[in-house]
Amino acid sequence: MSASVIDGKAIAAELRENIAKEIEKLVADGGPRPGLATVLVGANPASHIYVRMKRKASGEIGIESYHHELPEDASQEEVEKLVEELNVDPRVHGILVQLPLPAGMDEEAILRMIRIEKDVDGFHPLNIGRLAMKGREPLFVPCTPAGCITLLKKAGATLEGAEAVVVGRSNIVGMPAALLLVKENATVTICHSRTKNLPDVCRKADVLIAAIGRAEMIRGDWIKPGAYVIDVGTNRVDDPTKKRGYRLTGDVAFEEAVEVAGAITPVPGGVGPMTIAGLLNNTLRSAKRAAK
Ligand code: NAP
Repeated sequence: MSASVIDGKAIAAELRENIAKEIEKLVADGGPRPGLATVLVGANPASHIYVRMKRKASGEIGIESYHHELPEDASQEEVEKLVEELNVDPRVHGILVQLPLPAGMDEEAILRMIRIEKDVDGFHPLNIGRLAMKGREPLFVPCTPAGCITLLKKAGATLEGAEAVVVGRSNIVGMPAALLLVKENATVTICHSRTKNLPDVCRKADVLIAAIGRAEMIRGDWIKPGAYVIDVGTNRVDDPTKKRGYRLTGDVAFEEAVEVAGAITPVPGGVGPMTIAGLLNNTLRSAKRAAK
């Protein structure tokens, strides 16, 4: 059996097209042009690439980008002051502080400072708390986990009553993905580095989300035949045949898994494009809310 490959790139492109149309309608109706502020602290090369991609994607669909860069040795106070300014800037509907922040910085304090109405990454403890509570709705859902759910639905997965396994419990991917699956009425198991018999736990999953950060850790024989597999992992693996000397690979051994799963996301071209589409969507929603 060969799984269908879930084309995150195409699904994200469709979402972006719809968001672009909605933005033009919002502006034509006299609403504000959505604005996204990006805050980049330090010289982390991957962070610079991610922020560049997010700004480029914003510009392409008509979101105004307000970019701020602070040096590696910026103080906590400088970052907090910037966030405060952005909080009250009416042109800014979303504030994205690119993580990770340099070592020694109090990340939680900074994320907590972002006004919840502008928390387009959805990482504010209040948004995460609401996500976890029955009958409460967050203003924004974290973009990568939201992308995972969209991909599952687009691929035709039935989430209600499904046995779902999430490997990884990070604040930005694993835990919110698990909370979203609970909201979809799946029965969810959350795994992490101390989980015993991980392959056996994974084998029970109708829906498997891998957010570990370990190249190809999940093997084909860990996967239940016909399962929906979402691979969030983005790992650099040395590859001298590539011009840049490495290739990107997921947390799932794709070539093995594709023979067993019912549907699976590739890396790259699966979850990654959905993360950016989610950010653009959250920024649009924030601008619409501000227009009310
Ligand atoms: P993270 O904060 O490092 O969390 C990794 C999680 O995996 C932790 O919960 C950890 O368990 C668990 N883990 C580590 N080793 C394990 C093992 N041997 N067995 C079982 N669980 C294990 O990583 P993250 O930020 O969630 O990111 C995960 C991956 O997704 C990375 O490859 C990252 O690059 C990628 N990512 C992709 C996107 C995208 O848009 N495509 C966005 C964000 C992240 P403990 O909690 O016990 O330590």
